[in-house]
Amino acid sequence: MNTITICCKLQTNEIQEELLLENSTLFAKACNIALAYRSPKQTRFSLHKACYQCIRKETGIKANYACQAIARVVASKRAKAFSARSFVCDVRTFSVLGNSVRISVHTGKPIQVPMLLGEYQRKHLQGDKPSSATVHRQNGSWYINICIKKEVVKKEAGIDFGVDVGIANVAYTSSGTAFCGKALWAKKAQFRRVRASLQSKRTRGAKKVLRRLSGKERRYIRAEIHKISKAIVAEAERHTAKNIRLELLKGISQRVSIPNKHTSRMGRAWSFYELQSFVKYKAEAIGMSVEFVDPAYTSQSCHQCLLENRLTLGSRSGIRFCCPIHGKKHADHNAAQNISLGLQLKKLYPSELAKAGKEGGANCNCARKVARKSRFKAHAL
Ligand SMILES: [Zn+2]
Repeated sequence: MNTITICCKLQTNEIQEELLLENSTLFAKACNIALAYRSPKQTRFSLHKACYQCIRKETGIKANYACQAIARVVASKRAKAFSARSFVCDVRTFSVLGNSVRISVHTGKPIQVPMLLGEYQRKHLQGDKPSSATVHRQNGSWYINICIKKEVVKKEAGIDFGVDVGIANVAYTSSGTAFCGKALWAKKAQFRRVRASLQSKRTRGAKKVLRRLSGKERRYIRAEIHKISKAIVAEAERHTAKNIRLELLKGISQRVSIPNKHTSRMGRAWSFYELQSFVKYKAEAIGMSVEFVDPAYTSQSCHQCLLENRLTLGSRSGIRFCCPIHGKKHADHNAAQNISLGLQLKKLYPSELAKAGKEGGANCNCARKVARKSRFKAHAL
């Protein structure tokens, strides 16, 4: 079962807007009451028992909204207060009726609001029954995020597909496709230049522009990550993959140190985790499984030798990897192919690795070496 969220804009009139605002104000009040009752070890059940009556009495909110408010408080462990921006509906408090949605509000009579639907929304809303929804306000307009549970048929047959992530190449697949990071880094450098120039001016106008630009870079990077992850999953599907293998990158941003402060900062701002999580949910939506493997020695060992059941540690020079037996090959492609095998090299070849005396944590070492080789100067990015 896979859950997807469909965001639709609500075409509200003035009365409906007021009712939605009042409902979200009461929902926030209910959350804040539940928050006052919350203790560190409290479960949803115990919190419900402690504050449900109080919420109903003080807010007059519907029973299902009271339950959803308690659930939200239990889920948001760090929240200190809730504001009237949104409220959560369940199957009893909302329903989709063609191009409109019926939402229960505190007055008792439900409101029917038309939705602005595109082709994508129509396709997913047809036939499937939504499980829950969040109504929220953004820039003066109201939206509804509808959650739909979809039955996904798992792929049983197919190949294992490996993806190597890095800095010079944002991603490299075991099928040999590279996703170059050059344009991305150039755009990031451009954002940094504009920001630095505006910051140095210190005028009121510059501050106004900075405020407008804040978040633009983040949105740009996020959109790029979406495009890359979509292309990776499409590539895996084209090669009839049933399983995508990614590197387990715990703490890579600390380990990847590039000897250039501008580039180092940009490298850290790049989210490997976000790319992998986008690949994961996009792959799972079409029935592929995703596996995280230990990346140790995947950049240092030869893929062909591993296929012949032996470990050969080669040398790397820039983007070239050289195996003493099989010769030169693309380093990232070799690493991606090794990742696709999903072997635990540390466990399989402990004596060979001890004899070679090399350190693991392959991909970050490679990123460091590539960075040194290509010098990664800010103007070159
Ligand atoms: Zn080899």
